[in-house]
Amino acid sequence: YRMEKLSMNELIIETAEKFRTQSTHSVVFVDDASDVTVEGDKERLAQVLMNLIGNAIKFSPQGGNVTVCMKNNFNALRVSIKDEGIGIPAEDIPKLFSKFQRIDNSSRRKIGGTGLGLAICQEIIVKHDGKIWIESQEGEGTTIHFELPLQSSEPQEYSVHEGVEENPPVMIVEDD
Ligand code: ATP
Ligand code: MG
Repeated sequence: YRMEKLSMNELIIETAEKFRTQSTHSVVFVDDASDVTVEGDKERLAQVLMNLIGNAIKFSPQGGNVTVCMKNNFNALRVSIKDEGIGIPAEDIPKLFSKFQRIDNSSRRKIGGTGLGLAICQEIIVKHDGKIWIESQEGEGTTIHFELPLQSSEPQEYSVHEGVEENPPVMIVEDD
């Protein structure tokens, strides 16, 4: 893993752009996060986004919007990929992060894939000290969430006593 400081919003915009040209589905990005810097491997996180957005499109054969939402959740950055596709039966959700697990039924048989995508996504997210989980309603759609620790999530406590300014916080302003 080649870890570097990444702006997750830029990575999402770049990845969504790749789908814009090759898909009839629109991919909308709703950015509600104020802190978007994570420590991560750019190529691997792009691979996670490619598979999750790719799945959202692939399993929405009737069209529908794909929405990528991003927000801060305490010391983590949460990215959610939501579709209005065929959904996943509740009993199948727990097994889909294992390798080669696909759902074999008539509505999916024609949709290709090896069943490796989610297993790889989970491996990558866990290597980043994050987590990934699925929320889905069969016939209504699926949302896959993942969370990554924020780069600024180191404890930043400093003590402030009344009348004494001790260790004032240092603000680092980055020019870009
Ligand atoms: P690969 O990603 O290796 O090309 P795949 O897309 O079938 O193949 P995964 O990405 O691991 O494999 O997904 C596993 C299974 O989970 C899929 O085959 C599909 O049945 C189900 N699934 C994943 N994402 C969605 C989604 N957004 N909506 C409905 N079903 C999904
Ligand atoms: Mg996939």
